[in-house]
Amino acid sequence: MVVSASRPPALKPPVSAADLEHRSLRGGEFWRAIPAYSSIDEPTFLNHIWQGQHSVKTPDELLATITGLVPDAFIEDVRAGFARAPMAVRLSPYVIASINWQQPEQDPIRRQFLPLGSTLEQDHPMLTLDSLHEQQDAPVPGLTHRYHDKALFLPLNTCPVYCRFCTRSYAIGSDTAIVDKVDLHPDRERWQAAFDYIASRPELEDIVISGGDAYQLPPKHITTIGEALLGIEHVRRLRFATKGLAVMPSKILTDSAWVDAISGVVAHGRSLNKDVVIHTHFNHPNEISEITQKAANVLFQRGITIRNQTVLIRGVNDTEATMLLLVRRLSYLNIHPYYVYMHDLVRGVEDLRTSLAQAQELEQAIRGATAGFNTPMFVCDAPGGGGKRDVHGYAYYDRENGISVFRAPSVKPGQLFCYFDPLAGLSAAAQARWQDPTERAAMIVAALHQAGGELQGGPSIK
Ligand SMILES: *Cc1c(COP(=O)(O)O)cnc(C)c1O
Ligand code: SF4
Repeated sequence: MVVSASRPPALKPPVSAADLEHRSLRGGEFWRAIPAYSSIDEPTFLNHIWQGQHSVKTPDELLATITGLVPDAFIEDVRAGFARAPMAVRLSPYVIASINWQQPEQDPIRRQFLPLGSTLEQDHPMLTLDSLHEQQDAPVPGLTHRYHDKALFLPLNTCPVYCRFCTRSYAIGSDTAIVDKVDLHPDRERWQAAFDYIASRPELEDIVISGGDAYQLPPKHITTIGEALLGIEHVRRLRFATKGLAVMPSKILTDSAWVDAISGVVAHGRSLNKDVVIHTHFNHPNEISEITQKAANVLFQRGITIRNQTVLIRGVNDTEATMLLLVRRLSYLNIHPYYVYMHDLVRGVEDLRTSLAQAQELEQAIRGATAGFNTPMFVCDAPGGGGKRDVHGYAYYDRENGISVFRAPSVKPGQLFCYFDPLAGLSAAAQARWQDPTERAAMIVAALHQAGGELQGGPSIK
């Protein structure tokens, strides 16, 4: 390469407004645009008890809250969507107030929580309800030990909201018209069985406390779980997982007992040289407001690390501009973007999935745009229990039929795992092949063969 001494330095062009958009956060009393909240003052809206009491839990309650904002045809569409949904309904006032009801069809927050009958797509033929095999890898109910040194503990089965795309729709929320749930109630005996198992496995250093959602745990339970796990000598790292910051950030401002309980576990962990952090779940930049920033600041000032896990969702965050804005906005709040997950193969939400190829393109667009430690890793949680794999790290990818094949040598050596792109993005010929059971099996066998092996742990070929 020739380097010219006379070449002028390549100055960056002046920054565009779009590049600073992540700093403009929604402020003011934005909730007053919702008729049901038009007379709600700030202290009331921020109060976590009010938020919990006014969360809507049935389609009728929701429809009553938004009546007048949307046309009747939209309401009928939501009703039709709920009738076919595997998830229970729960929406906090913060979420309801964050949706643009002028354009509810396109709204990225609406899409995550409210199904529309008119946009549902037929499930992929390879879909199962617990596609991650969390129950198969569970030595005691509500504890999944898949990876060598880390385990996933599900102390409870409720969340401050219910997401349409929830991977754990086999357990989370109450039974729905089409699913009877596995019972994961908060239960001290079940918890003790999980603690005993963790204590009996010296290789376990890292425990994810998920759910359900740690926001729903009363402060004394945060302390009980945190202290029980910190008390196990070989446990070095805890993560409390909550979507709360994204859907009810004001709890951090008004529930001082909860914040004190988490802070207490973090401080005790630090005194033992153990790392306790919060993992949260933002999917779209519109979920972040000035309230979120205040909440993130409270946790930051208490020295609590927050990492974010995003689900890649069609029509929500599957464009370069939106993903970049989300990553920058989270970084601006000192929340580290950790993972972007491929959407799991979950029933009833085909309209939300993207292809592996789209995830790869997004990853390439995002990497380099900000600090490396704020650049999320794009992963596919391999169906069948293979664990998280880099979206670029497949053994074989048949783009035409939308079949990617992964190995997971550190998790399940010798096995292959398949992920399937949504049918809607495939050619008409490929879609037709998927409808034929013989061709379906042949495509999968061919992909496995290309990847150099046979399927052992993954979905059975029917
Ligand atoms: C995601 C997950 C973990 C944590 O994995 P990291 O990659 O360390 O975030 C642990 N156990 C199970 C079952 C998981 O799904
Ligand atoms: S907050 Fe998490 S666990 Fe709860 S419904 Fe949403 S995705 Fe599922």
